[in-house]
Amino acid sequence: MTIHNLGDQNSVLNQFISEIRDLQIQKDPMRFRRNIERIGEILGYEFSKELAYHSKTVETPLGNKSMHLSQDQVVICSILRAGLPLHQGLLNYFDAAENAFISAYRKHENNEDDFEVVVDYFAAPSLEGKVLVLTDPMLATGRTLENVLKGLKDHGTPKQIHIVSVIGSKTGIDYIKDIFPESTHLWIAAVDPELNARGYIIPGIGDAGDLAYGQKL
Ligand code: URA
Repeated sequence: MTIHNLGDQNSVLNQFISEIRDLQIQKDPMRFRRNIERIGEILGYEFSKELAYHSKTVETPLGNKSMHLSQDQVVICSILRAGLPLHQGLLNYFDAAENAFISAYRKHENNEDDFEVVVDYFAAPSLEGKVLVLTDPMLATGRTLENVLKGLKDHGTPKQIHIVSVIGSKTGIDYIKDIFPESTHLWIAAVDPELNARGYIIPGIGDAGDLAYGQKL
């Protein structure tokens, strides 16, 4: 797996990351969602550099111009509900992309720390020969992405897989490295050192789904 940690370079990306982390600023859900969306736009722009490009002549009112454009068919696959703003950010740039949605939640038995990832709702097109973009805003344990990959197995073989994530843990990244094909790219905006006992990234941001859409019971 090739890991692109874009937060390692100085750029406006780190302003958006800092705002979703900030205890005060993250309280504004509209700003939180928009910041995640903006991060999706930046990560999408970066991974677009890995697509296949072909020459195409574009006719302008005053002449012709040869351009390098990608004809890759992109499928953006997101996990409900925290993945929605990141999905929208990618869709802002890949407006012709197809879409896949999966619901996954953490089932804690008897309020214990350990949990099982349950995949429930599933709607995905064929992936055969396409570029699959898997989004997971918080790459914590890596088990959600593992389950999503298993769930997509019968939908055909993509020609390339890109994982797009906002913040990941070292543990989660190491875990998915062994599961995804070697040719997979991970585009991530920050990598944090730890996971707590309940599988939350430390220092991270807290619960991305709650911050974007409100607390659940
Ligand atoms: N999901 C979240 O929303 N936050 C984390 O820190 C880990 C998983």
